[in-house]
Amino acid sequence: MSEMQAAVSRDGRTRVAFIGSECYPFIKTGGLGDVMYALPRALTRQGCEVRVILPYYRCIPDRFRSRAKYRGSFMMDLTLEGRTFYVGIMETEMDGVVYDLIDNREFFDWGSPYTGLWEDIPKYCYFSKAALAILNYMEWIPDVIHCHDWQAGLVPVYLRTRFEGTPVAAAKSVLTIHNLRFQGICSIEHLKYWSGLPDHLFDYPIFKINEREANMFKGGLAFADKITTVSATYAEEIQTDFYGEGLNGHLWYHRPKLCGIVNGIDVELWDPAADALLKAPYSRDDVLDKKKENKLALQERLGLEQNADKLVLGLVSRLTDQKGLDLIDAVFQQMLDENTQVVILGTGDPRYENAFRYYESACPGQVCAYIKYDESLAHQIYAGADALLVPSLFEPCGLTQLIAMRYGTIPIVRETGGLKDTVEPFNENTGEGNGFTFDRYEADLLLDAVRRARRVFLEDRARWDALVCRDMEKDVSWENSAGQYMALYNELKSWD
Ligand code: ADP
Repeated sequence: MSEMQAAVSRDGRTRVAFIGSECYPFIKTGGLGDVMYALPRALTRQGCEVRVILPYYRCIPDRFRSRAKYRGSFMMDLTLEGRTFYVGIMETEMDGVVYDLIDNREFFDWGSPYTGLWEDIPKYCYFSKAALAILNYMEWIPDVIHCHDWQAGLVPVYLRTRFEGTPVAAAKSVLTIHNLRFQGICSIEHLKYWSGLPDHLFDYPIFKINEREANMFKGGLAFADKITTVSATYAEEIQTDFYGEGLNGHLWYHRPKLCGIVNGIDVELWDPAADALLKAPYSRDDVLDKKKENKLALQERLGLEQNADKLVLGLVSRLTDQKGLDLIDAVFQQMLDENTQVVILGTGDPRYENAFRYYESACPGQVCAYIKYDESLAHQIYAGADALLVPSLFEPCGLTQLIAMRYGTIPIVRETGGLKDTVEPFNENTGEGNGFTFDRYEADLLLDAVRRARRVFLEDRARWDALVCRDMEKDVSWENSAGQYMALYNELKSWD
């Protein structure tokens, strides 16, 4: 039997349930939201039947909440005491993907999806168990349950314990690490109480990390049939002390079931030729003229000096230590010169918010720090900037460099994780490559990369323009990676 035939399910299509805590356009705080949107669509195009299960947060905009229809409800027990909780299913469909949103006001009525670990642990214990319970309730049994990050970390554990012997236990599980920094760590008592899972799981091979604490992600990784992460380099890095966030030994032990599959982006959502948020949409054929128009519009919107000859450096990012912002802070004044402007869009750590606000006030017309979450401005920066800074300390995959390339904006990145796997260093001799890169986590190396980029931009425009066009042609879509996930699902199905 061929691999494809083996993958054919009862109704002719491979069934996959995606379980995760955020999904564009319902709710997005970072790259996980993009992946939960784009990968199911790409898999659907490749013949999969996909359901996405996520919480019905109160903070999902009303235009999406009102679209969802009541599909059913039941009571579910949770906690050591067996307390019962309401589980409602609100369902909607978009472009062939079905979304089942789990409704429970007690857990999901907060102003934002993540509030603090004390509340988030019960919230995502409930969510993980309810996600499996609704699959049984709907009698929709997937071939593969694809879980994402620590918030869905208990799914593989429940699947092989509390749900053993129920229909959904026929499914295999994949747990994807989008960011190992966040793991769902709390006291052993707190997790024991809320999960209601048996005592023997709270030992070192599964949840326990020290005498007092348990780790939800760790338990999920132990129980999952396969572990993936979002680039091949990050899959290697997380087995080391520096990147492993305390789980490197655990991941090394489980490495036979670990692999890296790089993310793509949704090339319809991120399409400079059809982007209604841009002043002047463009394709590879007219990028050189239209990018200037977009740059002038961006400069006007942000109160910068309008001049298409300036090198505009963009940053679209959560403002956290992960993103290498201390490097930017350390060399900010040296990065700037009379030919350079900097545009920052992001929110996060007050240390960085305030530093960037300071540079804006110190360099009016030359620096803009837009301390907000703003989808439309993000699109306009990708289109209007010349280069995008991504000097991350670690970066599981990173989407901003992919979006930048799609928009003909040259990434300046540190060679780590997915940045290393997706941005080929520009070679000054041959003119090949996609962006400007540096390896060690040092501010001077970032500064050097910015200076190299500026030199090509100012002194060798033909080469810069060729780079812009080449980046726009690079395949950053999901198709190839979705094919790799299909192969993984097929392998799991062939285990039967
Ligand atoms: P992470 O998931 O670590 O935050 P990624 O690069 O994987 O980083 O994904 C970031 C996503 O969030 C991209 O789609 C980016 O455009 C978006 N984004 C980040 N900050 C902002 C912001 N302030 N406003 C709008 N979009 C943002």
